[in-house]
Amino acid sequence: MARYTGAVCRLCRREGMKLYLKGDRCYSDKCAFTTKQYAPGQHGQGNARRKVSEYGMQLREKQKVKRIYGVEENQFRIYYDKASRQNGVTGENLLRLLERRLDNVVYRLGMASSRVDARQLVRHGHFTVNGRKVNIPSFLVKEGQVITVKEASRKSPKFAAIAEAIAHRNAPQWLDLDKANLVGKVVAMPSREDIDLPINEQLIVELYSR
Ligand code: SF4
Repeated sequence: MARYTGAVCRLCRREGMKLYLKGDRCYSDKCAFTTKQYAPGQHGQGNARRKVSEYGMQLREKQKVKRIYGVEENQFRIYYDKASRQNGVTGENLLRLLERRLDNVVYRLGMASSRVDARQLVRHGHFTVNGRKVNIPSFLVKEGQVITVKEASRKSPKFAAIAEAIAHRNAPQWLDLDKANLVGKVVAMPSREDIDLPINEQLIVELYSR
């Protein structure tokens, strides 16, 4: 399936929740979801009253997670298959895998205003992991790894602004952030409790188990 390139705020309205796809705007009163909490389109408000089937709910839950992490269908299926082969609860494994993506880690550290922004920064080669340049957004970080903004990038206006903004951000427990030097460390693998998403991942497991 091709990547969605339309107005992203429609996606939040479609999923009935804030997906935080637009960076700072999502945290301001300009957020479209604040004023229009119904699906887009001519029948959007009517749809809110429609009974959703079990399959529909499972599908929507999967779409929400895909959209939050910016992952396409094929790749999502690969994550799911990997999660189902791991020990533990498949749904939780799935979210924990997605959470370990380098673009998500950059976002969680506050070094980007959104996961979309983080993906672009990673692609442009601004980060190193344990001293080696990594420009693959789907790179999965491991415990003990250190994520650093490249020396040359740190001097750019973009990262000067990030360094300022980061002072007001707090990294999740599983990440350690050195705000002065723009360095993040993976101190533990993320647990489900670390992932602050109102998602019922079990619905995704049920969808793929059909
Ligand atoms: Fe969603 Fe952000 Fe747009 Fe609000 S501003 S509707 S959270 S993408």
